[in-house]
Amino acid sequence: MLAAAGAEARIVRTPKDLEGLDGLVIPGGESTTMTLGIEREGLAEPLRGLMRSGTPVLGTCAGMIMLDREHLDVLDIRARRNAFGRQVSSFEADIAVKGAGAMRAVFIRAPWVEEAGEDVEVLAEVHGHPVAVRQGNVLAVAFHPELTGDGRLHKWLVDRIREHQAKEAA
Ligand code: GLN
Repeated sequence: MLAAAGAEARIVRTPKDLEGLDGLVIPGGESTTMTLGIEREGLAEPLRGLMRSGTPVLGTCAGMIMLDREHLDVLDIRARRNAFGRQVSSFEADIAVKGAGAMRAVFIRAPWVEEAGEDVEVLAEVHGHPVAVRQGNVLAVAFHPELTGDGRLHKWLVDRIREHQAKEAA
């Protein structure tokens, strides 16, 4: 998805992998496992530093959880894990995303945003619960945009990266 949006992607596992990075995706997965890996590698502070300095970020599903106040504390939100419950733990929905329009969204044991600060803009909701939020250059969605072949959110990230680079260069 990132290559299609014009970016060269690499996997980040250690602080060294962050060197020279222009943007970051925190993908879906499992937030407890990610937290343990981040602790083990001493990644929390370097990650926070990178993201708070304005580096564009896209967080998806578990990535949304990782960005919240109780985890990396980059977004002024509190995410609720597995919020849609076990019975309907995975589903697809047609949602409307502010700025992007209609979008098919795949939710897999997804979180929702339980609480958001005033600098956080809610871009989409499901059953009245925010599932897409933006604060500055950080976009977090509760679904998996990489599973539908819809590249708009990855393109959003690459556009923000270009914008950020131009600003840095000026
Ligand atoms: N339920 C997972 C968690 O709590 C997130 C699931 C996902 O990323 N698809 O971390």
